[in-house]
Amino acid sequence: MNEAAKPIPYGRQTISDEDIEAVIAVLRSDFLTQGPAVVRFEESVASYSGAGFGTAVANATAALHMACRALDLGPGDLLWTTPNTFVASANCGLYCGAEVDFVDIDPKSYNLSVEALERKLETARTAGRLPKVVVPVDFSGQSAEMREIAELGRRYGFRIIEDASHAIGGDYLGAKIGSSVHADITVFSFHPVKIITTGEGGIALTNDPELHARLQMLRTHGITRDPKQMSADAEQGGWYYEQVDLGYNYRITDIQAALGTSQLARVDEFVARRRMLAARYDELLRDVAVTTPWQSPDGRSAWHLYVIQVKETARRAVFDRLRADGVLANVHYIPVHLQPWYRQMGFKPGDFPEAEAYYSRAISLPLYFSLTETQQEYVVGCLKRALA
Ligand SMILES: *Cc1c(COP(=O)(O)O)cnc(C)c1O
Repeated sequence: MNEAAKPIPYGRQTISDEDIEAVIAVLRSDFLTQGPAVVRFEESVASYSGAGFGTAVANATAALHMACRALDLGPGDLLWTTPNTFVASANCGLYCGAEVDFVDIDPKSYNLSVEALERKLETARTAGRLPKVVVPVDFSGQSAEMREIAELGRRYGFRIIEDASHAIGGDYLGAKIGSSVHADITVFSFHPVKIITTGEGGIALTNDPELHARLQMLRTHGITRDPKQMSADAEQGGWYYEQVDLGYNYRITDIQAALGTSQLARVDEFVARRRMLAARYDELLRDVAVTTPWQSPDGRSAWHLYVIQVKETARRAVFDRLRADGVLANVHYIPVHLQPWYRQMGFKPGDFPEAEAYYSRAISLPLYFSLTETQQEYVVGCLKRALA
Protein backbone atom coordinates (compact mmCIF):
# COMPACT_ATOMS: atom_id res chain seq x y z
CA MET A 1 0.00 0.00 0.00
CA ASN A 2 1.18 3.56 -0.54
CA GLU A 3 2.38 5.41 2.56
CA ALA A 4 -0.88 7.29 3.06
CA ALA A 5 -2.63 3.88 2.88
CA LYS A 6 -5.21 5.62 0.76
CA PRO A 7 -5.73 4.73 -2.88
CA ILE A 8 -4.32 7.17 -5.45
CA PRO A 9 -7.01 7.91 -8.06
CA TYR A 10 -6.14 8.57 -11.71
CA GLY A 11 -7.66 12.03 -11.45
CA ARG A 12 -9.44 14.24 -8.96
CA GLN A 13 -10.53 17.81 -8.32
CA THR A 14 -8.83 20.45 -6.18
CA ILE A 15 -11.26 22.66 -4.25
CA SER A 16 -10.00 25.73 -2.37
CA ASP A 17 -11.58 27.83 0.39
CA GLU A 18 -12.15 30.54 -2.25
CA ASP A 19 -14.12 28.04 -4.36
CA ILE A 20 -16.28 27.20 -1.35
CA GLU A 21 -16.83 30.90 -0.54
CA ALA A 22 -17.86 31.58 -4.14
CA VAL A 23 -20.48 28.81 -3.97
CA ILE A 24 -21.79 29.99 -0.60
CA ALA A 25 -22.14 33.55 -1.92
CA VAL A 26 -24.47 32.29 -4.65
CA LEU A 27 -26.48 30.25 -2.15
CA ARG A 28 -27.08 33.49 -0.22
CA SER A 29 -27.95 35.47 -3.38
CA ASP A 30 -31.20 35.97 -5.31
CA PHE A 31 -30.47 33.53 -8.13
CA LEU A 32 -29.55 29.86 -7.94
CA THR A 33 -30.02 29.47 -11.68
CA GLN A 34 -30.41 31.77 -14.74
CA GLY A 35 -28.64 34.51 -12.78
CA PRO A 36 -25.51 36.59 -13.27
CA ALA A 37 -22.99 33.89 -12.26
CA VAL A 38 -23.67 31.87 -15.41
CA VAL A 39 -23.11 34.89 -17.67
CA ARG A 40 -19.95 35.78 -15.79
CA PHE A 41 -18.65 32.21 -16.16
CA GLU A 42 -19.39 32.17 -19.90
CA GLU A 43 -17.59 35.47 -20.40
CA SER A 44 -14.62 34.33 -18.30
CA VAL A 45 -14.13 31.06 -20.19
CA ALA A 46 -14.60 32.72 -23.60
CA SER A 47 -12.18 35.48 -22.74
CA TYR A 48 -9.62 33.07 -21.25
CA SER A 49 -9.68 30.84 -24.34
CA GLY A 50 -9.91 33.64 -26.87
CA ALA A 51 -13.32 32.64 -28.27
CA GLY A 52 -16.02 35.19 -29.01
CA PHE A 53 -18.90 33.59 -27.13
CA GLY A 54 -19.68 30.82 -24.65
CA THR A 55 -22.84 28.93 -23.70
CA ALA A 56 -22.40 27.11 -20.39
CA VAL A 57 -24.52 24.00 -19.91
CA ALA A 58 -25.23 21.07 -17.61
CA ASN A 59 -22.38 18.93 -18.98
CA ALA A 60 -20.18 18.55 -22.04
CA THR A 61 -22.42 15.83 -23.47
CA ALA A 62 -25.25 18.38 -23.61
CA ALA A 63 -22.87 20.89 -25.22
CA LEU A 64 -21.93 18.33 -27.91
CA HIS A 65 -25.60 17.55 -28.57
CA MET A 66 -26.49 21.24 -28.87
CA ALA A 67 -23.47 21.84 -31.09
CA CYS A 68 -24.68 19.14 -33.49
CA ARG A 69 -28.16 20.64 -33.50
CA ALA A 70 -26.78 24.15 -34.05
CA LEU A 71 -24.98 22.83 -37.14
CA ASP A 72 -28.24 21.26 -38.37
CA LEU A 73 -27.07 17.68 -38.11
CA GLY A 74 -30.04 15.37 -38.62
CA PRO A 75 -31.37 12.16 -40.16
CA GLY A 76 -29.56 11.26 -43.37
CA ASP A 77 -26.41 13.11 -42.24
CA LEU A 78 -23.09 11.64 -41.16
CA LEU A 79 -20.93 12.51 -38.15
CA TRP A 80 -17.36 11.24 -37.99
CA THR A 81 -15.19 11.13 -34.90
CA THR A 82 -12.26 9.22 -33.44
CA PRO A 83 -12.79 5.80 -31.83
CA ASN A 84 -10.30 6.79 -29.08
CA THR A 85 -12.70 8.93 -27.07
CA PHE A 86 -15.45 8.86 -24.52
CA VAL A 87 -18.73 7.62 -26.01
CA ALA A 88 -20.30 11.10 -25.80
CA SER A 89 -18.26 12.38 -28.78
CA ALA A 90 -20.12 9.87 -30.97
CA ASN A 91 -23.47 9.65 -29.18
CA CYS A 92 -24.22 13.32 -29.90
CA GLY A 93 -24.61 12.37 -33.57
CA LEU A 94 -27.00 9.52 -32.76
CA TYR A 95 -29.12 11.86 -30.59
CA CYS A 96 -29.77 13.89 -33.75
CA GLY A 97 -30.74 10.85 -35.81
CA ALA A 98 -27.52 11.07 -37.82
CA GLU A 99 -25.30 8.14 -38.69
CA VAL A 100 -21.93 7.87 -36.91
CA ASP A 101 -18.67 6.61 -38.35
CA PHE A 102 -15.07 6.73 -37.16
CA VAL A 103 -11.63 7.70 -38.43
CA ASP A 104 -8.67 5.72 -37.08
CA ILE A 105 -6.03 7.34 -34.89
CA ASP A 106 -2.45 8.41 -35.43
CA PRO A 107 -0.38 5.85 -33.45
CA LYS A 108 1.96 8.62 -32.29
CA SER A 109 -0.43 11.25 -30.94
CA TYR A 110 -3.43 8.92 -30.33
CA ASN A 111 -5.53 11.68 -31.93
CA LEU A 112 -7.63 11.33 -35.08
CA SER A 113 -5.25 10.73 -38.01
CA VAL A 114 -5.35 13.45 -40.65
CA GLU A 115 -4.02 10.99 -43.26
CA ALA A 116 -6.76 8.47 -42.47
CA LEU A 117 -9.32 11.29 -42.55
CA GLU A 118 -8.19 12.45 -45.97
CA ARG A 119 -8.25 8.90 -47.38
CA LYS A 120 -11.70 8.28 -45.98
CA LEU A 121 -12.99 11.60 -47.34
CA GLU A 122 -11.77 10.73 -50.84
CA THR A 123 -13.61 7.40 -50.74
CA ALA A 124 -16.69 9.06 -49.25
CA ARG A 125 -16.77 11.69 -51.98
CA THR A 126 -16.80 8.99 -54.66
CA ALA A 127 -19.60 7.24 -52.80
CA GLY A 128 -21.52 10.48 -52.23
CA ARG A 129 -21.40 9.92 -48.46
CA LEU A 130 -19.39 12.86 -47.11
CA PRO A 131 -19.83 13.74 -43.42
CA LYS A 132 -21.66 16.89 -42.40
CA VAL A 133 -19.81 17.17 -39.08
CA VAL A 134 -16.41 15.91 -37.91
CA VAL A 135 -15.64 15.82 -34.18
CA PRO A 136 -11.88 15.77 -33.49
CA VAL A 137 -10.97 15.16 -29.84
CA ASP A 138 -7.98 16.78 -28.13
CA PHE A 139 -7.06 13.48 -26.53
CA SER A 140 -5.36 13.68 -23.12
CA GLY A 141 -5.24 17.49 -23.49
CA GLN A 142 -3.10 17.60 -26.62
CA SER A 143 -4.69 19.39 -29.57
CA ALA A 144 -5.72 17.37 -32.59
CA GLU A 145 -4.21 18.61 -35.87
CA MET A 146 -6.93 21.22 -36.09
CA ARG A 147 -5.33 23.40 -38.78
CA GLU A 148 -5.12 20.46 -41.21
CA ILE A 149 -8.59 19.21 -40.28
CA ALA A 150 -10.05 22.70 -40.87
CA GLU A 151 -8.33 22.80 -44.25
CA LEU A 152 -9.99 19.46 -45.15
CA GLY A 153 -13.27 20.87 -43.85
CA ARG A 154 -13.09 23.70 -46.38
CA ARG A 155 -12.16 21.27 -49.15
CA TYR A 156 -14.84 18.67 -48.44
CA GLY A 157 -17.52 20.91 -46.95
CA PHE A 158 -17.90 19.58 -43.42
CA ARG A 159 -18.32 21.52 -40.16
CA ILE A 160 -16.14 20.97 -37.10
CA ILE A 161 -16.95 20.47 -33.42
CA GLU A 162 -13.71 20.26 -31.43
CA ASP A 163 -14.24 18.07 -28.38
CA ALA A 164 -11.72 19.77 -26.08
CA SER A 165 -13.15 18.16 -22.93
CA HIS A 166 -9.58 17.29 -21.86
CA ALA A 167 -7.89 20.44 -22.94
CA ILE A 168 -8.76 23.74 -21.26
CA GLY A 169 -5.48 25.52 -20.57
CA GLY A 170 -3.62 23.85 -23.43
CA ASP A 171 -2.44 25.72 -26.48
CA TYR A 172 -1.99 25.07 -30.18
CA LEU A 173 -0.16 27.09 -32.85
CA GLY A 174 0.11 30.14 -30.65
CA ALA A 175 -3.53 30.24 -29.53
CA LYS A 176 -5.35 28.82 -26.53
CA ILE A 177 -7.30 25.62 -27.13
CA GLY A 178 -10.91 26.80 -27.21
CA SER A 179 -10.18 29.87 -29.34
CA SER A 180 -12.15 28.04 -32.06
CA VAL A 181 -9.91 29.38 -34.82
CA HIS A 182 -10.08 25.98 -36.54
CA ALA A 183 -13.51 24.83 -35.36
CA ASP A 184 -17.10 26.04 -35.66
CA ILE A 185 -17.73 25.12 -32.03
CA THR A 186 -15.39 23.95 -29.25
CA VAL A 187 -16.59 22.07 -26.18
CA PHE A 188 -15.01 21.85 -22.71
CA SER A 189 -16.09 19.51 -19.89
CA PHE A 190 -16.01 20.51 -16.23
CA HIS A 191 -16.49 17.04 -14.75
CA PRO A 192 -14.37 16.67 -11.58
CA VAL A 193 -11.68 14.53 -13.26
CA LYS A 194 -11.08 17.19 -15.91
CA ILE A 195 -8.75 20.22 -15.58
CA ILE A 196 -11.23 22.52 -13.79
CA THR A 197 -14.62 21.56 -12.42
CA THR A 198 -18.16 22.75 -11.79
CA GLY A 199 -19.26 19.37 -10.36
CA GLU A 200 -21.06 18.65 -13.62
CA GLY A 201 -20.81 21.15 -16.43
CA GLY A 202 -19.66 22.03 -19.89
CA ILE A 203 -19.49 24.89 -22.34
CA ALA A 204 -19.85 25.40 -26.10
CA LEU A 205 -17.60 28.15 -27.48
CA THR A 206 -17.84 29.80 -30.89
CA ASN A 207 -16.80 32.91 -32.79
CA ASP A 208 -19.99 32.93 -34.88
CA PRO A 209 -22.73 35.17 -33.42
CA GLU A 210 -25.47 33.24 -35.22
CA LEU A 211 -24.29 29.88 -33.90
CA HIS A 212 -24.03 31.47 -30.47
CA ALA A 213 -27.64 32.68 -30.61
CA ARG A 214 -28.75 29.22 -31.69
CA LEU A 215 -26.82 27.55 -28.84
CA GLN A 216 -28.29 29.94 -26.26
CA MET A 217 -31.77 29.15 -27.51
CA LEU A 218 -31.25 25.38 -27.65
CA ARG A 219 -30.07 25.43 -24.04
CA THR A 220 -33.45 26.78 -22.91
CA HIS A 221 -36.17 24.86 -24.77
CA GLY A 222 -35.69 26.74 -28.06
CA ILE A 223 -37.33 29.77 -26.43
CA THR A 224 -36.47 33.35 -27.34
CA ARG A 225 -37.40 36.75 -25.95
CA ASP A 226 -35.53 38.56 -28.71
CA PRO A 227 -38.12 40.28 -31.00
CA LYS A 228 -35.76 39.83 -33.96
CA GLN A 229 -36.05 36.04 -33.61
CA MET A 230 -39.84 35.98 -33.24
CA SER A 231 -42.43 35.28 -35.88
CA ALA A 232 -45.27 37.36 -34.42
CA ASP A 233 -44.83 41.01 -33.60
CA ALA A 234 -43.51 41.30 -30.09
CA GLU A 235 -45.89 44.07 -29.02
CA GLN A 236 -47.97 41.51 -27.15
CA GLY A 237 -46.68 42.46 -23.71
CA GLY A 238 -43.72 42.03 -21.43
CA TRP A 239 -44.58 38.41 -20.68
CA TYR A 240 -44.34 37.32 -24.29
CA TYR A 241 -41.83 34.76 -25.53
CA GLU A 242 -41.80 32.32 -28.38
CA GLN A 243 -40.55 28.78 -28.79
CA VAL A 244 -39.02 28.86 -32.25
CA ASP A 245 -36.95 25.67 -32.14
CA LEU A 246 -37.07 22.32 -30.30
CA GLY A 247 -34.56 22.93 -27.52
CA TYR A 248 -33.79 21.38 -24.15
CA ASN A 249 -33.32 22.28 -20.53
CA TYR A 250 -29.54 21.98 -20.57
CA ARG A 251 -28.96 24.86 -18.14
CA ILE A 252 -26.15 24.93 -15.61
CA THR A 253 -26.87 26.46 -12.19
CA ASP A 254 -25.36 29.67 -10.82
CA ILE A 255 -24.01 27.56 -7.96
CA GLN A 256 -21.94 25.54 -10.41
CA ALA A 257 -20.99 28.53 -12.54
CA ALA A 258 -19.61 30.38 -9.49
CA LEU A 259 -17.45 27.36 -8.72
CA GLY A 260 -16.31 27.35 -12.33
CA THR A 261 -15.29 31.02 -12.37
CA SER A 262 -13.40 30.53 -9.13
CA GLN A 263 -11.66 27.42 -10.51
CA LEU A 264 -10.82 29.20 -13.77
CA ALA A 265 -8.73 31.71 -11.83
CA ARG A 266 -6.32 28.84 -11.15
CA VAL A 267 -6.40 27.01 -14.47
CA ASP A 268 -2.88 28.10 -15.43
CA GLU A 269 -1.59 26.98 -12.04
CA PHE A 270 -3.38 23.63 -12.44
CA VAL A 271 -1.98 23.07 -15.91
CA ALA A 272 1.54 24.19 -14.96
CA ARG A 273 1.64 21.56 -12.23
CA ARG A 274 0.25 18.88 -14.53
CA ARG A 275 2.99 19.75 -17.02
CA MET A 276 5.61 19.54 -14.33
CA LEU A 277 4.30 16.15 -13.15
CA ALA A 278 4.14 14.86 -16.74
CA ALA A 279 7.74 15.90 -17.37
CA ARG A 280 8.66 14.18 -14.12
CA TYR A 281 6.93 10.96 -15.23
CA ASP A 282 8.91 11.17 -18.48
CA GLU A 283 12.09 11.44 -16.44
CA LEU A 284 11.23 8.70 -13.93
CA LEU A 285 10.20 6.34 -16.74
CA ARG A 286 13.19 7.04 -18.95
CA ASP A 287 14.76 3.59 -18.50
CA VAL A 288 11.53 1.69 -17.97
CA ALA A 289 10.14 -0.54 -20.72
CA VAL A 290 7.05 1.56 -21.45
CA THR A 291 6.13 4.03 -24.20
CA THR A 292 5.64 7.52 -22.75
CA PRO A 293 3.36 10.09 -24.43
CA TRP A 294 4.69 11.75 -27.60
CA GLN A 295 4.21 15.50 -27.70
CA SER A 296 3.70 17.51 -30.88
CA PRO A 297 5.82 20.63 -31.32
CA ASP A 298 2.65 22.45 -32.52
CA GLY A 299 1.32 23.08 -29.03
CA ARG A 300 1.39 22.30 -25.35
CA SER A 301 -0.93 19.76 -23.76
CA ALA A 302 -3.16 20.59 -20.79
CA TRP A 303 -2.28 17.06 -19.54
CA HIS A 304 -5.66 15.72 -18.54
CA LEU A 305 -4.18 12.23 -18.89
CA TYR A 306 -0.72 10.70 -18.76
CA VAL A 307 -1.00 7.50 -20.83
CA ILE A 308 1.75 4.91 -21.09
CA GLN A 309 1.79 1.86 -23.33
CA VAL A 310 3.06 -1.51 -22.13
CA LYS A 311 3.33 -4.85 -23.91
CA GLU A 312 -0.13 -6.05 -24.84
CA THR A 313 0.43 -9.38 -23.08
CA ALA A 314 1.42 -7.57 -19.87
CA ARG A 315 -1.27 -4.89 -19.72
CA ARG A 316 -3.86 -6.78 -17.70
CA ALA A 317 -1.33 -7.99 -15.11
CA VAL A 318 0.29 -4.56 -14.78
CA PHE A 319 -3.09 -2.90 -14.36
CA ASP A 320 -4.26 -5.45 -11.74
CA ARG A 321 -0.99 -5.16 -9.84
CA LEU A 322 -1.21 -1.35 -9.76
CA ARG A 323 -4.77 -1.53 -8.48
CA ALA A 324 -3.79 -4.06 -5.81
CA ASP A 325 -1.10 -1.63 -4.68
CA GLY A 326 -3.63 1.19 -4.33
CA VAL A 327 -2.73 2.90 -7.59
CA LEU A 328 -6.09 3.38 -9.28
CA ALA A 329 -4.79 3.49 -12.84
CA ASN A 330 -7.36 3.55 -15.60
CA VAL A 331 -7.64 2.85 -19.33
CA HIS A 332 -8.67 5.50 -21.88
CA TYR A 333 -10.40 4.54 -24.08
CA ILE A 334 -12.16 1.34 -25.04
CA PRO A 335 -12.61 2.11 -28.76
CA VAL A 336 -16.16 3.41 -29.11
CA HIS A 337 -16.92 1.23 -32.17
CA LEU A 338 -16.38 -1.89 -29.99
CA GLN A 339 -19.14 -0.91 -27.55
CA PRO A 340 -22.15 -3.23 -27.90
CA TRP A 341 -24.37 -0.29 -28.91
CA TYR A 342 -22.10 0.42 -31.86
CA ARG A 343 -21.42 -3.25 -32.71
CA GLN A 344 -25.12 -3.78 -33.32
CA MET A 345 -24.78 -1.12 -36.04
CA GLY A 346 -22.24 -3.35 -37.76
CA PHE A 347 -18.90 -2.16 -36.36
CA LYS A 348 -16.51 -4.96 -35.42
CA PRO A 349 -12.96 -5.68 -34.21
CA GLY A 350 -10.45 -4.84 -36.93
CA ASP A 351 -12.35 -1.82 -38.25
CA PHE A 352 -9.93 0.69 -36.69
CA PRO A 353 -6.74 -1.27 -36.04
CA GLU A 354 -4.60 1.60 -34.72
CA ALA A 355 -7.16 2.55 -32.06
CA GLU A 356 -7.54 -1.12 -31.12
CA ALA A 357 -3.78 -1.74 -30.90
CA TYR A 358 -3.33 1.41 -28.83
CA TYR A 359 -6.18 0.39 -26.50
CA SER A 360 -4.72 -3.07 -25.89
CA ARG A 361 -1.52 -1.51 -24.49
CA ALA A 362 -2.70 1.70 -22.79
CA ILE A 363 -2.69 2.55 -19.08
CA SER A 364 -3.47 6.01 -17.66
CA LEU A 365 -1.31 6.78 -14.63
CA PRO A 366 -2.56 9.08 -11.84
CA LEU A 367 -2.20 12.74 -12.76
CA TYR A 368 -3.84 15.66 -10.96
CA PHE A 369 -2.91 18.94 -9.29
CA SER A 370 -2.58 17.63 -5.73
CA LEU A 371 -0.63 14.46 -6.63
CA THR A 372 2.54 14.75 -4.56
CA GLU A 373 6.00 13.92 -5.83
CA THR A 374 6.23 11.17 -3.20
CA GLN A 375 2.98 9.66 -4.46
CA GLN A 376 4.28 9.89 -7.99
CA GLU A 377 7.45 8.03 -7.03
CA TYR A 378 5.30 5.42 -5.33
CA VAL A 379 3.29 5.00 -8.56
CA VAL A 380 6.47 4.55 -10.59
CA GLY A 381 7.89 2.09 -8.04
CA CYS A 382 4.72 0.00 -8.25
CA LEU A 383 4.82 0.14 -12.03
CA LYS A 384 8.42 -1.08 -12.13
CA ARG A 385 7.58 -3.98 -9.82
CA ALA A 386 4.49 -4.80 -11.85
CA LEU A 387 6.57 -4.90 -15.04
CA ALA A 388 9.30 -7.07 -13.50
C1 LIG B 1 -15.60 13.84 -20.20
C2 LIG B 1 -15.77 13.81 -21.67
C3 LIG B 1 -16.99 14.09 -22.30
C4 LIG B 1 -18.28 14.26 -21.57
O1 LIG B 1 -18.21 15.21 -20.58
P1 LIG B 1 -19.40 15.36 -19.53
O2 LIG B 1 -19.18 16.76 -19.02
O3 LIG B 1 -19.18 14.31 -18.49
O4 LIG B 1 -20.68 15.20 -20.25
C5 LIG B 1 -17.03 14.15 -23.68
N1 LIG B 1 -15.93 13.91 -24.41
C6 LIG B 1 -14.75 13.62 -23.84
C7 LIG B 1 -13.57 13.37 -24.72
C8 LIG B 1 -14.64 13.54 -22.45
O5 LIG B 1 -13.48 13.19 -21.90
